[in-house]
Amino acid sequence: MTTQQTNLLQTPIEFLKGVGEKRGAVLRKEFNIQTFNDLLYYFPYRHIDKSHVYHVSDIVNDGGYILLRGTIKDVRVVGQMRAMRLTATFSDETGSIELVWFNGIRWVQDVLKSRKEFVIFGKPTLFNGRWNITHPELIDPAQQQNSPVSLRFQPLYNTSETAKKKSLDSKAMSKLTANLLAQVKDIIPETMPREMVEELHLMTLKDALINIHYPEDLQKLSQATLRLKFDELFFTQLKLLKLKLINTDRFEGYPFKQVGHYFNTFYKECLPFDLTNAQKRVLREIRGDVGSGHQMNRLLQGDVGSGKTIIALFSMLLAIDNGYQACIMAPTEILATQHYEKISKQLEPLNLRVEFLSGSTKTAKRKEILTDLQNGQVNILIGTHALIEDNVVFSKLGLVVIDEQHRFGVEQRAKLWRKSGPIPPHILVMTATPIPRTLAMTLYGDLDVSVIDELPAGRKPIITTHYYEKDRLKMFGFLKTQIAEGRQVYVVYPLIQESEALDLLDLQAGYEAIERSFPPPEYSIGVVHGRMKAEEKDYTMNCFKKGQIQILLSTTVIEVGIDVPNATVMVIENAERFGLSQLHQLRGRVGRGGNQSYCILMSKYELSNEGRKRLNAMVETNDGFEIANFDLQLRGPGDLQGTRQSGMLDFKIADLTKDEKLVAYTRNYAQQILEKDSDLSLPEHKRLAETLEKQMQRDTNWSVIS
Ligand code: ADP
Ligand code: MG
Repeated sequence: MTTQQTNLLQTPIEFLKGVGEKRGAVLRKEFNIQTFNDLLYYFPYRHIDKSHVYHVSDIVNDGGYILLRGTIKDVRVVGQMRAMRLTATFSDETGSIELVWFNGIRWVQDVLKSRKEFVIFGKPTLFNGRWNITHPELIDPAQQQNSPVSLRFQPLYNTSETAKKKSLDSKAMSKLTANLLAQVKDIIPETMPREMVEELHLMTLKDALINIHYPEDLQKLSQATLRLKFDELFFTQLKLLKLKLINTDRFEGYPFKQVGHYFNTFYKECLPFDLTNAQKRVLREIRGDVGSGHQMNRLLQGDVGSGKTIIALFSMLLAIDNGYQACIMAPTEILATQHYEKISKQLEPLNLRVEFLSGSTKTAKRKEILTDLQNGQVNILIGTHALIEDNVVFSKLGLVVIDEQHRFGVEQRAKLWRKSGPIPPHILVMTATPIPRTLAMTLYGDLDVSVIDELPAGRKPIITTHYYEKDRLKMFGFLKTQIAEGRQVYVVYPLIQESEALDLLDLQAGYEAIERSFPPPEYSIGVVHGRMKAEEKDYTMNCFKKGQIQILLSTTVIEVGIDVPNATVMVIENAERFGLSQLHQLRGRVGRGGNQSYCILMSKYELSNEGRKRLNAMVETNDGFEIANFDLQLRGPGDLQGTRQSGMLDFKIADLTKDEKLVAYTRNYAQQILEKDSDLSLPEHKRLAETLEKQMQRDTNWSVIS
């Protein structure tokens, strides 16, 4: 590829034939099409088949566009002024239909006069019992032969209202892409080595880009689609894997060589249960990482209740055994406190110093902690965002655990990295939001992923039921039997962000209804919501933890990781308003002890299609990964928690919900290439290196994803 060719593709869009200043501005603003190349990659969402010629007698009422060949006669202008229109009769050997034009009458008249035989293209509709086509396209057979691109399939492009007002509708766009291809089709560069294209039986990029707009036939269209998807996914994976290599190459990590006193003592003497096989496996993976001399960058996925915290604890003990400090950062005060209470209690026999730091830590205490942290007397620091503040300085920070990853931004993670001097600490990110494999590979392609795919033994699967309002008394009756057995209950109301006042109203009404059925002093009810002061909230949550409250009503402030094993019923009001992953997270608050637990989804009777599917999915499965996959299918990847802003999933043509196999394939393929040639320096990889380089330059923000 010569420089000149690259430059042509980088030409500002205004300079394309048929664009100009005004349309250029619209293309830039509405579709972010700045250059020739951008337009080349502005793919149609569908094609209309113009290859099949229909007969009038074949017309059926399916709303589709069709092509007809025949003669046109009886051309006349009817009506006056605004109602003026041109009509004509079109016939082939099987019958006739009516054609109508409201605009451009003079021009159409001229065309119709020029000849008798026509190929017309349009969407037939029934009008007064007769088929008619409004504004059919009049195709000149000669046009087809002169065109540089195949016109058998007409591309349809997404446009916007604004663009249409500037007469940039789908058809206008297709004229532009045809002009563009006529000009650039011979200089479209290849992104992959020829051998690779051949080995994989892919279409060349040039043919793919031509055929994605103007396919010669359907098979070519599908080959073009495959090639372009392959490009997107393959280079994404290559990029991610390369970053991973760079990370492990560049960042040496503190070697945790030994499993020592603290780890062993805890394992032998303090562990109140046996680890599950999945937990043991993950622990081995972590030990492998931290012992390697390279920095660990590991994502630990595990469904709610799968026991991630104990893994964090063992990892921290490893750090301490090797002379380092460790910290855990949680997204909220309540979660951080809970970790602190649990972990400091579990570690009591080991005589380690565990401290807690958050925004609400009092000044004197904070000072003491910061000093002792810096001189190495604090072994484990647990807290909230407060940990990333600049004045929090460790003596030897060896391991950072981040709980509930999706709430922390990339920037915040990066900040923690810099807390331990030239060598970054090992990082363990824990998430209970199960991410389907395809997404994980892409979103966290540069992290290693461990999965706890097994719940601790003896857990009874949560029984989920879906109730309507009419079942409310039955539901209350059920709560009474549970409470009579000494169990506790959550009742959660959805948070509608637009109106906190309304939420509280829901909560208030719910409270009154529950109080009527569960009168004090026999029952004790607590309420937490987003407008309460942190201390009040904590006070109520603590009463619930201690069993002093039997029914806890809340808006969604009840925290993702709250752990009250005695709570066995989760009632979710207006469940149809929650997303699937959120429902699953909420359900995970129960089923944490040995008792059978229940999740009750309350909803109104009329549900949207999607709402019903969500609730059904909840009733049908307890498996977080299944739920996540289902969610991905329902909503598409762009909407999944934490992925929205990443920009990494902005594929033009690949679809992570549908192209799972291709993701896996391209990842393997990229992996094989890098195993052979990690810096892509072999001559046969020259072109890959160039393409990658270009893409890396384009999205520089890749490098900050830790
Ligand atoms: P999560 O993965 O949701 O963070 P936790 O770490 O809070 O789950 O663990 C949930 C509960 O299960 C805790 O009470 C924990 O002590 C307990 N637990 C963890 N691992 C096991 C195990 N192997 N056997 C029995 N109970 C376990
Ligand atoms: Mg947890």
